[in-house]
Amino acid sequence: MVVGVLALQGSFNEHIAALRRVGVKGIEVRKAEQLEKVSFLIIPGGESTTMAKLAHFHFLALREFVRLGKPVWGTCAGLIFLADKAVGQKEGGQELVGGLDCTVHRNYFGSQLQSFEACLSVAELSSKEGGPETFHGVFIRAPTVLEAVPEVKEGGQGGLKVIVAVRQGNLLGTAFHPELTSDSQWHSYFLKMAGEVEEGTSNSIVTIASS
Ligand code: GLN
Repeated sequence: MVVGVLALQGSFNEHIAALRRVGVKGIEVRKAEQLEKVSFLIIPGGESTTMAKLAHFHFLALREFVRLGKPVWGTCAGLIFLADKAVGQKEGGQELVGGLDCTVHRNYFGSQLQSFEACLSVAELSSKEGGPETFHGVFIRAPTVLEAVPEVKEGGQGGLKVIVAVRQGNLLGTAFHPELTSDSQWHSYFLKMAGEVEEGTSNSIVTIASS
């Protein structure tokens, strides 16, 4: 299994290192034709306007990858890329890949200075009986999901009352940066989800973390 990581800007090296920790090879994707060589794709966090400019020539290929039902995970700026609609940005905004039937707010929590870390719990992450698994969420100029449709399944507990992770079919979006921690739960979760997508047993849209 080869996982591609869009390597135009942002935390792609950190994602490749996190994949290595769970025993999976991640390769840098810089050209549209490299998408043909990968089964799954991660779009990292970074600065989404810059990334969108650099990805300019790749949008058709990225949309096709999503349309074909291949598993894609967007973290932070990557979540913005995957949303069907983004608000909280300058007029015109940036190009989106789309596919996640939700609206994101690009900088919901404010500027870099309002970046924060929080301990969150998400039932869907848990492989054990008896309660949700916790994880350390790193939010850097983070977006949130304002609206997601429909069948919203509340998964989280904690202080924040916004949606910070969603999953719809072959797509996963998280507002935070698991690749900047040593915790591999979210990378394992994506690989499990990707396996389910390939087997055709994936869920429809669920909000998997609203803490
Ligand atoms: N909100 C940022 C943007 O619009 C994304 C921040 C991030 O990926 N850490 O680009």
